[in-house]
Amino acid sequence: MPSVHVVGSLNADQLLELTTFPERGETVLSAGMRVTAGGKGGNQAVAAARAGARTGMVSATGADAHGDLVRRALAEAGVATAAVRTDPEAPTGLAVVLLEPGGGNRIIVEPGANATLTGRDVEAGLAAVAPGDVVLLQLEIPPAVVSAAGRLARARGATVVLNAAPAPTDARHLDPDDLDVLVVNAHEARAVADLFGVAERAPEEQVAALARALNLLVVCTVGARGAYAAAPGGREPVLHVPAVPVTAVDTTAAGDTFTGYLAAALADGADDLPAALRRAAAAAALTVTRHGAMTSIPSLSEVPGTRPTSQLTGKE
Ligand code: ATP
Repeated sequence: MPSVHVVGSLNADQLLELTTFPERGETVLSAGMRVTAGGKGGNQAVAAARAGARTGMVSATGADAHGDLVRRALAEAGVATAAVRTDPEAPTGLAVVLLEPGGGNRIIVEPGANATLTGRDVEAGLAAVAPGDVVLLQLEIPPAVVSAAGRLARARGATVVLNAAPAPTDARHLDPDDLDVLVVNAHEARAVADLFGVAERAPEEQVAALARALNLLVVCTVGARGAYAAAPGGREPVLHVPAVPVTAVDTTAAGDTFTGYLAAALADGADDLPAALRRAAAAAALTVTRHGAMTSIPSLSEVPGTRPTSQLTGKE
């Protein structure tokens, strides 16, 4: 059975509940604190594993308690951690999440050991990649490592999926020749469009224009409005996958759930892409009904039957 290999970040998410934000020079007491496993790479690996794919993680942590926490969380979800290197010098990546009273947040990320990843980690971690496997990448690790992973994976016949998050700021961070699938949210789609000279348009037109310009399968998630997908070349009709209506309590990891589920479906052959996208949307809808990141990602058995029809925009 083909595997999903995630090359990406692992963080400890330190969530601080505040009743008010400190002004410069001021100290405030937090109303509560918890530390959970996170990082886009880790979240997406957990999503792929919970979607049923054999999944491995290529990453690095520090030799510290946060490193133990994230490894344990991955292992509990069934993600192989043999290619997660322990760096004796660097701390585990840390995201300090300041939770605002109204449900918003402000986030500070210290990359820590994620920044120590090199091409050597990629070569060792992806040594077993075989044709049909999926290599899933994000942009929370050094760009040169993302490129090296994409190149190596493509050369081995794997399907390479890039979730271009956080939004790229340099076109060199995204070489379409090393990729098969690009997954972006609306903000990231605009950033990629800017970098590649694709004019600003409505989401369904932009996704087709990106698929044309980059010659990739492009999937753009648009929150409660669902997702759009355009085949490489951008000449087929754009597919719209509606979101599953739910009462959202916390949208954290919605995109990670969607992307991890899509990667798992691609590793499984994904003969029916619309069905794969509908399942990803159904899983992400469950995630937004729960608090937290990794903990809110559902297992396949929890995801209700997929919706029977999808809408085609009929765009040329
Ligand atoms: P995040 O950064 O919060 O993880 P994102 O910005 O990367 O998310 P979104 O486009 O917000 O990604 O959401 C990804 C997918 O999750 C959407 O395509 C949709 O299927 C699902 N989703 C998100 N928000 C909702 C919602 N309020 N109701 C139902 N489904 C949702």
